[in-house]
Amino acid sequence: MQDMTTKRWQYTNRYIQDMIPKEEPLLIAMQRSARAKEMPEISVGPEVGRFLELVVSMTRGNLALEIGTLGGYSAAWILRGMAPSGHLETIEEMPEYADFAEDWLGRLGHSGRFTIRRGAALSILPDLAKMYGPRSVDFVFVDADKLEYPAYLQCVTDLIRPGGLLVADNVLGTDDFWIDHEEHPERQAVDAFNRTVMEHPDYRAVILPIRQGLLMAQRK
Ligand code: SAH
Ligand code: MG
Repeated sequence: MQDMTTKRWQYTNRYIQDMIPKEEPLLIAMQRSARAKEMPEISVGPEVGRFLELVVSMTRGNLALEIGTLGGYSAAWILRGMAPSGHLETIEEMPEYADFAEDWLGRLGHSGRFTIRRGAALSILPDLAKMYGPRSVDFVFVDADKLEYPAYLQCVTDLIRPGGLLVADNVLGTDDFWIDHEEHPERQAVDAFNRTVMEHPDYRAVILPIRQGLLMAQRK
């Protein structure tokens, strides 16, 4: 096994980034517009986007749920992986981000394929659970308040159909903390989430050190 040095890790990440073909112009324009509106630059990047599209396409892709829309960048990739008649429910508490995502996902050709639920995830999730019922969702992407990750897990586990997938972003860190900051409250919440999923009898799960860490789990 080769030693991992800082330099080698940076080279590795650059290598992976450089390998990714150029994004389509409309997606680039969407991200440029988000920056111009001074929205936080915390969306996933194209490497995670491609991962989302790939794994969503490995499910039936009929019903997907995202917690934390921001400007709709990850939602755009999820929608690409879904069946043509599939539907994405995505939750966002900031009205201006939800408006932006609504506009851009429409421009990307996804009108009628998604619903943005405006409000706090933990008050909306029980409504969605009632609306769709248990074992209905093919794919869940968790990417909102890191302190609430354990609570999101409780809300979504019964919603995911056997064989369905759960993916969570930032399971190794964000711009604010990394997983070795053991005293950081967000780190502690994410760590509790990671452990619960990894040890959960109803999931088979892995943590992938892509970007800021992705957890992927399949519901048994
Ligand atoms: N998934 C997006 C990035 C999401 S950033 C992408 O990769 O493109 C996290 C988002 O979650 C922010 O827009 C924030 O406003 C939203 N958020 C944070 N806490 C929330 C909560 N409790 N309920 C709903 N949305 C929340
Ligand atoms: Mg994230």
